[in-house]
Amino acid sequence: PSAPVTVTVTGAAGQIGYALLFRIASGAMLGAGVPVRLRLLEIPAATKAAEGTVMELMDGAFPLVAGLDVFDDPAKAFDGANIGLLVGARPRGPGMERADLLSANGGIFSVQGQAINDGAAADFRAVVVGNPANTNALIAASHAPDVPASRFTAMTRLDHSRAVAQLAAKTGAGVGGVRRLAIWGNHSASQYPDITHATVDGVPATDLVGQAWIADEFIPRVAQRGAEVIAARGASSAASAANAAVEHMRLWVQGTPEGDWTSMAVPSDGSYGVPEGLVSSFPVTTAGGEYTIVQGLEVDGFSRARIDASVAELAGESDAVAGLGLI
Ligand code: NDP
Repeated sequence: PSAPVTVTVTGAAGQIGYALLFRIASGAMLGAGVPVRLRLLEIPAATKAAEGTVMELMDGAFPLVAGLDVFDDPAKAFDGANIGLLVGARPRGPGMERADLLSANGGIFSVQGQAINDGAAADFRAVVVGNPANTNALIAASHAPDVPASRFTAMTRLDHSRAVAQLAAKTGAGVGGVRRLAIWGNHSASQYPDITHATVDGVPATDLVGQAWIADEFIPRVAQRGAEVIAARGASSAASAANAAVEHMRLWVQGTPEGDWTSMAVPSDGSYGVPEGLVSSFPVTTAGGEYTIVQGLEVDGFSRARIDASVAELAGESDAVAGLGLI
């Protein structure tokens, strides 16, 4: 059997954490043969609730679980960690300005970045789920100078999966028939779900749906899906977000299938005109635990404008956190 992998989940007592931990424990993320040591990081006020989740995880008697610990100290929680799922973040409160939100999260992600820098394992990699996810990843990376910045990514897989599901529903195909869809930019309402390279059962998606549907229904629906779920459920999406975090990490570690991509927000290397260093979503393939931004895609005028708008929003967030001294 393989050696246990240490996985640190922050915001572990939250809604997403509750759904996420059970999936990891079952082997859905790292595979059926890989034992996991789960580390749950919470703020002091929520460690008791996290202990309750640990009791339930124990009661699951998961054969792959090789350790279960709760922490309120990031330095201890990330010591020796191989994988970080950074879910806990400060939600925007009533009347909170964007600068206050960025600065509250800057406090959280700078400390965690430092802890990762000081103690995480050499192969450490992280996905940030807590919003503003892309910029939180940028902050964490900038406080971990000894860890390659490429190991700090942010989650756009939920947007990707939502887009796959919408395109499948529209065309009557199964979700497994949809390939090469891409999310570009920020995990926010400005994101660009792109079907110009997608195929549905091998047929170009743009042969099956019209431009009006793409611009007026598909893109807004994917971008506003979180609000649609809140309106129906009375609470924000949690199990689907947890599922997407599992998928993000599963694909990163285990590889994308031949002929398909996933979407990940990763530090830009300048590809597609996205300024270097901004954590922006791209289509990526993965193999051997490494991701590669898909190169050479043709970007039409409509796509260009959408990507540029979302990247401009990211640049604005980056300037704001730089102005606050957080990166
Ligand atoms: P959730 O578990 O529902 O959400 C956690 C984060 O994920 C939020 O920032 C949320 O953003 C974000 N998110 C990203 N994508 C999605 C999506 N598609 N749908 C829903 N959320 C998404 O929040 P809870 O309030 O239930 O739990 C947060 C926990 O984090 C609390 O237990 C708190 O104590 C903890 N926390 C821990 C910290 C730490 O470990 N140091 C620091 C701060 C908080 P959005 O707000 O935009 O919905």
